[in-house]
Amino acid sequence: MRRIPDIYAEKRAAGRPVISIEFFPPKTPRGDESLFERVLPRLAEARPDFCSVTYGAGGGGTREKTLRIVERMQREHGLTAMAHVTCVSFTRARMDGFLDEAAGLGIENILALRGDPPPGEPDFRRPAGGFDYAFQLIDVLKARSDEFAIGCAGFPEGHPDCTEGKHVDWQRLRDKVDHGAEFILTQLFFDNADYFRMVDYLTGTLGLTVPITPGVLPILSTKQVKRFTALCGATLPPALVADLDRLGDDDEAVTRFGIDFASRQCEALLAGGAPGLHLYGLNRSRAALAILRNLKLA
Ligand SMILES: Cc1cc2nc3c(=O)[nH]c(=O)nc-3n(C[C@H](O)[C@H](O)[C@H](O)COP(=O)(O)OP(=O)(O)OC[C@H]3O[C@@H](n4cnc5c(N)ncnc54)[C@H](O)[C@@H]3O)c2cc1C
Repeated sequence: MRRIPDIYAEKRAAGRPVISIEFFPPKTPRGDESLFERVLPRLAEARPDFCSVTYGAGGGGTREKTLRIVERMQREHGLTAMAHVTCVSFTRARMDGFLDEAAGLGIENILALRGDPPPGEPDFRRPAGGFDYAFQLIDVLKARSDEFAIGCAGFPEGHPDCTEGKHVDWQRLRDKVDHGAEFILTQLFFDNADYFRMVDYLTGTLGLTVPITPGVLPILSTKQVKRFTALCGATLPPALVADLDRLGDDDEAVTRFGIDFASRQCEALLAGGAPGLHLYGLNRSRAALAILRNLKLA
């Protein structure tokens, strides 16, 4: 399978954006079937450059599934895929075992994260014998003789836990790159100015040269996007809230609106120089496909 930094280099040379789609491990066998029998075959039309699979996000006891799903995506669908890995509940020894397993399954791309606290716990707490921050996980990955290509997360509005403000958070993002992260995928956001401000600071003031790819969430439901943004600390601009409130619980109308909004957002991001798009696909194909068709990228 391909390494994600190589894909970025190749696409950059060709003047083409890198398209990635994020999935989460389904909670049920029916969800697995839907992902592998319907969603991935449909998305094959869009030929994403890589897919990624979350680890533990949102709970539901799906942690053990991440590696298996990445492996199946690679083996059954010929996709380049990446496993997310977090510091949540990992001791150093358990992390070594997990990474051995990933390498044994032929997984070569890892997104190194601190992780969200498990449901019911308000704050992240370092597991005994584990890690406080993503950069420590990056050190562990880096020490494994180039076994994995390493990505990390960035926050266009600053990470919500960072009380010192977004510029301090962005300096810590630079630290993650200094420790070995080779590309950055961002948290979702709805105002492109937030992304471009972060990129200007990281590349201009801090001198970063790694790809910084915007994360884009196609809105599928008013309630859902309000819940997601409350959880991850992203801002829903008032004008967008007003549009969504007008559409209310009509999920079909919200999905059509969300596809249109995300298509325009992505178009402006690419026009402004973003190296690609990381779509939060929510294990569905319709919105991601429609956006990529609108952008003539499918
Ligand atoms: C693209 C993407 C994918 C994601 N996938 C998942 C997933 O699969 N599973 C999941 O659980 N969560 C996922 N998340 C969410 C992420 O794990 C959380 O937002 C988490 O709270 C922060 O992770 P991080 O890797 O950025 O942490 P870190 O980089 O460790 O930062 C966490 C906080 O610590 C601060 N910090 C960093 N270094 C220091 C230091 N040296 N001293 C003091 N403070 C410091 C930072 O400013 C920040 O506030 C994802 C996020 C993104 C953007």
